[in-house]
Amino acid sequence: MKSYHKELFFTVPERRGFVNITPQVEDCLRESGIKEGLLLCNAMHITSSVFINDDESGLHRDFERWLEKLAPHAPTTQYAHNGYEDNADAHLKRQVMGREVVVAVTAGKLHFGTWEQIFYGEFDGRRQKRVLVKIIGE
Ligand code: ZN
Repeated sequence: MKSYHKELFFTVPERRGFVNITPQVEDCLRESGIKEGLLLCNAMHITSSVFINDDESGLHRDFERWLEKLAPHAPTTQYAHNGYEDNADAHLKRQVMGREVVVAVTAGKLHFGTWEQIFYGEFDGRRQKRVLVKIIGE
């Protein structure tokens, strides 16, 4: 069995944002040479997510509005976590959107359903953060 891993780096210039990272993940898969197996992709921070959904800008605005309703950023004093930090909402948003995705690798490609793409979800940005890609198989 082969094993491969790589860390990807992302800096979202705003507090929140979604980035389609499918091309970078596909580069990792090509680089690994693995044709059959499993690919794990996870955020390495507790205020950002990796998730799979549609690359459609209206849906991304809907996610943003929905998450702001669930866990509004302000007033920051509403959260017990906010003392030295002001990012309690980011932890909650990340929890809803998830930490990682696992995608089957078949014939050297990501075995997606129709419209599936991999996204990095940032909820406390304006600094560099990491995503891990781990692939096992043969
Ligand atoms: Zn925090």
